[in-house]
Amino acid sequence: MTATIIDGEAVAAQLKEQVAQDAAALTAAGKTPRLAAVQVGENPASKVYTNMQAKQCESVGIDYDLRNLSDDITQDQLLAEIDALNNDPGVSGVILQMPLPPQLDARSIQIAIAPGKDVEGMGTTNMGHLFYGGGICAPCTAVAAVELLKLTCPDLAGKEVVIVGHSEIVGKPIAMLLLQSLNESPTVTVCHIATRDLAFHTRRADVLFVAAGVSQAKWRGAQARAKSSGEELVVPDLSPLISADMVKEGAIVIDVAINRIPKGVDEDGQPLKNDKGKTAIQTVGDVDFEGARERASAITPVPGGVGPLTVVMLLKNTVACAQAIAAES
Ligand code: NAD
Repeated sequence: MTATIIDGEAVAAQLKEQVAQDAAALTAAGKTPRLAAVQVGENPASKVYTNMQAKQCESVGIDYDLRNLSDDITQDQLLAEIDALNNDPGVSGVILQMPLPPQLDARSIQIAIAPGKDVEGMGTTNMGHLFYGGGICAPCTAVAAVELLKLTCPDLAGKEVVIVGHSEIVGKPIAMLLLQSLNESPTVTVCHIATRDLAFHTRRADVLFVAAGVSQAKWRGAQARAKSSGEELVVPDLSPLISADMVKEGAIVIDVAINRIPKGVDEDGQPLKNDKGKTAIQTVGDVDFEGARERASAITPVPGGVGPLTVVMLLKNTVACAQAIAAES
């Protein structure tokens, strides 16, 4: 069997059009959606994200309002900033850029974002809605992953779904989203680092979600070890967590992971270099894509699967918050 490739870019483009139309309707009513992004300190990785968010927002007619705050801000000062955004009627949604400096408690700040502006769906109220069903915003990646599954396989009743990864941002919300129907939910198994026999679970999955980021964690670990010891970098085995033989014939595979790892190693075991003399990096998921596509019935690529849709879910949530605020005023 050769799998159908689930085209996240195409689904994202379609949804983006709808979001742009909804944003335009709000603008026509004098209520242009506005996403406030809170960035504490300088962080090159966050800068990549905020630039991307700014571009994406602009492309659908959402105002993007980046708040750069000093990296020595205290917890109370940051909570006051969040409170001001919560009470600003011109702000539709608030996103907190991670990571935060060590003096700040990320979770309590995330929770302080008003539920109606919590566009990442990471606060306790929106997480609670996920449990009961309903609510405005659910975590973007989880919604994107489930959306791609539902477009591929609308009837999930009784199917065996296995999720690898149990983070608050991906694995757990995927499980909750899948369990919302009283009579037509799949049977959901959630695996994680302490799961004893991962292959036993994945091999019986009609649907396999994978969100662990194992290869990247190994690569980062090797780099950190080399840096702290001053010894030569030893590239570990970076083969995917999910090999083809761990995928059931005919399964649907949704690979959420984004691993940025070396493209390969030279004869000395050192990472291959690009033409600028830096490590040549590739982006891959947690699944052996080439092997798994010969067994699965459908599979998401990395990149080009869940990632593009995740970004659009953030825009969708921002517009949904703006619509809810407009309806109340
Ligand atoms: P996390 O580090 O918070 O959680 C990792 C999860 O994987 C944990 O539940 C852990 O127990 C599990 N795990 C780790 N090693 C394992 C192993 N050997 N076997 C089984 N389970 C194992 O990570 P996260 O934030 O949930 O992200 C997971 C992956 O998803 C990462 O690759 C991340 O880059 C990617 N991600 C993608 C998007 C997107 O838009 N596509 C968004 C967020 C995260």
